[in-house]
This record gives sequence, structure tokens and C-alpha cells, in this order.
Amino acid sequence: MPMQPDQQPIYFDNNATTRVAPGVLEAMLPFLREQWGNPSSIYGFGRQLTKPLELAREKVAALINAEPREIIFTSGGTESINSALQSALQTRPQKTHLIATAVEHSATIKFCAHLKTVGLDVTLLPVDAEGGLDLRLLERSIRPETAMVSAMLANNETGVLFPIEEIAAICRNKNVLFHTDAVQAPGKLQIDVRESGVDFLSLSAHKLYGPKGIGALYVKRGVKYHPYIIGGGQEQGRRGGTENVAGIVGFGRAAELAMAHLGEADTRIRALRDKLETVILSSVPGVTRNGSKEARLPNTSNLSFEGIEAEGILLLLDEQGICASSGSACTSGSLDPSHVLLAMGCDVSRARASIRFSLGSYNTEHEVDFVLKQLPSIIEKLRSRSH
Ligand code: PLP
Repeated sequence: MPMQPDQQPIYFDNNATTRVAPGVLEAMLPFLREQWGNPSSIYGFGRQLTKPLELAREKVAALINAEPREIIFTSGGTESINSALQSALQTRPQKTHLIATAVEHSATIKFCAHLKTVGLDVTLLPVDAEGGLDLRLLERSIRPETAMVSAMLANNETGVLFPIEEIAAICRNKNVLFHTDAVQAPGKLQIDVRESGVDFLSLSAHKLYGPKGIGALYVKRGVKYHPYIIGGGQEQGRRGGTENVAGIVGFGRAAELAMAHLGEADTRIRALRDKLETVILSSVPGVTRNGSKEARLPNTSNLSFEGIEAEGILLLLDEQGICASSGSACTSGSLDPSHVLLAMGCDVSRARASIRFSLGSYNTEHEVDFVLKQLPSIIEKLRSRSH
């Protein structure tokens, strides 16, 4: 039966986006209803908004142990990532080479492909079958003309984590800038830019119960930055465009809540994810996990169901009101096999047979049990059809 518009789905796609937390919405509403001015105005009605903006900057900075002035608000993860890569090339004009990993989000991979079309050189590092990086290969791939290495903190499709501190140390030794796409990490893992030693770090509010269309780029103090979006002098000349005040305030509140609830991801959500994964692996034949079991986010499970296409599973889950994904949101809906799973050495049929369940704060054990009840018969039905 199709879902009614007012019905809430059973939502297991929290790596794609998250529900806006009620406390976040509440914090935003005054800046849409009453305080809707432009912070750059000369008069008080606009100028008064600089205070809530700076307060939100402090909260986002605290989420990653940065200083407020190291935070630039952007329109989201994609803009932050594009800006970091672009800045490295602009501030080091004699350098013509970038390194990224083959499993980065399309915001990195496709931007790198674009850079290649304008004559720059890009190395995409391979990963092993578990999704891990060979750090010696990374080190050997750095050349005198390398401007930046970009490697994600946590993979959006498999949840696999990269050792950011070690990569940062290699880059520091080689005098190369290091950017990490940390979009999937806040609220699930503790992030500390001081300890990890990264130069740039990208964030997005809609992955941590904040609104869409707002993100941040951390730029370490002392590291040169060249703006990507050029216009007004907002963000101290580092990002043009009238500030998305309500979005920024919402992001600040979401950051605050993410810090307060950090323990939950590691306990309750991890336990739900583990139950879901363990029971599927033991009760449905022909299922394999994609990516490392240990070094991954506590909320993500990526599984391949031998002999069937993910699309069929997703449609039948959808009929039961269950949302899951076949990979990143940008590729779901198309039949392209995931570039992440292909890079891990999966063959095309295993890549096409993969489903990502990504859990979040609003999931309950009852919902996990419901999925566990529905899934075996869905798989059986699809397999008997394909025979
Ligand atoms: N990086 C990762 C790892 C992501 O999962 C996403 C979103 O799917 C992005 C970047 C892009 O973020 P945004 O949707 O805010 O542009």
C-alpha cells in the first residue's frame, strides 16, 4: 500500500540525509518569521543578526575543537569540498597535482575529473577489499608538484574510516596540504582538528539533524585560503553571498545537540545496527558485508544479496514504508554500480546487489524488528522470480 503524505517512513537512510531535529527547527523559526534581516545592513534590525551568527560559529567550531575564526559557512558539503581543493590550487599556483582516494564522494571525485579537463593531474588512490588505504602508497604518490591530499574521514556508503591522523602526519612531513571530507562523521564520532592535524575539513548540517543547504569548511589558522564563491565581503571575504541566517543558526544548534548525544551513536545506535546486520547475515542466505567490520561508523551496514539487483529490494522495502539506499544518494535511482564497491574489488553483480542501511537517532528496536521480519520474504520472492 503506498504511503500517505502525512505518514512517517521507517527511515534507514540517515547517511543520505537526516530529519531536522525539533530543537533545531525551533531555533531556526525566529530567523524566518521575525528576524529576517540582512546581517550586512547598517541598521540594527539587520546588524543584530551578527550575534546569533557568531554564536552558531562558536558551536560548529566546538563540534570539531576548532576556533570560531577557522570556520567558513558554505552551502553544504559539496561546496566545502570544492572550495578546499580549489583553494589549494589557487594558493600554490606552481603545484599541478592532487591526490584523492577512489572511494571519495562524487563531490570530490567529479570535481577532480573536472580539474583534469582543465589540465591538472589527479591521482586516485586504490583501496583494499575492506575499503582500507595503503598509507605507504599514499606517501609514495606525493610528488614535488602535489598541492593537496584529500581523503574522507568516513565513507558514506560503507562507513569505513580512514586513519586521518596518520594521513595528516604524512602530508605535514611532505609539506602537502591535507583536506578531509568529514561530512559523515559528526554525531557519530568525536572529531578533533587539533589532534588530527588536518588543514581543511568539510561538514554538512543535514547529516546531523540540521537543515539542508548549509555546511562549513574548517581552514586551519595560518593556512592560506582563496575563496571559491566570490561576491560580497561576507565570512570575512572568504565566501560571498548573503548569509543563510536560519540555516546557520540551525547548524549551530544541531552541532550542539550532536555533541550532547555523541555517546548514543556508540551505544544504542551501534547495538541496533549490529542486531540488524547480525540477524540478516545469519538468517538470509547469500549475504555478504561490504567493508571492514571494525573500522567503520557505528550506524552503517552495507550488505550484498547474491543474485538480485538492489533496485528490486529497495522497491519492495519501499512498499512496506522502509527507506534504504543502494549507495550514495546521488547514484541511487540510477543503475550504475557503486564506484566505492567496485574500487574495493567487488564484481559488478555484487556491487549492484548491495543495500546500505544507515541508522540514526530516531530509529527504534521495533523498526529494526520490522525490517528483519520483512526482508527474508522480500529476498526469497526476488530470488524465486529471477529463477
Ligand atoms: N561528502 C559525503 C561523504 C557525503 O555523504 C555527502 C552527502 O551525501 C557530501 C559530501 C555532500 O554533502 P552535501 O549534500 O551537503 O553537499
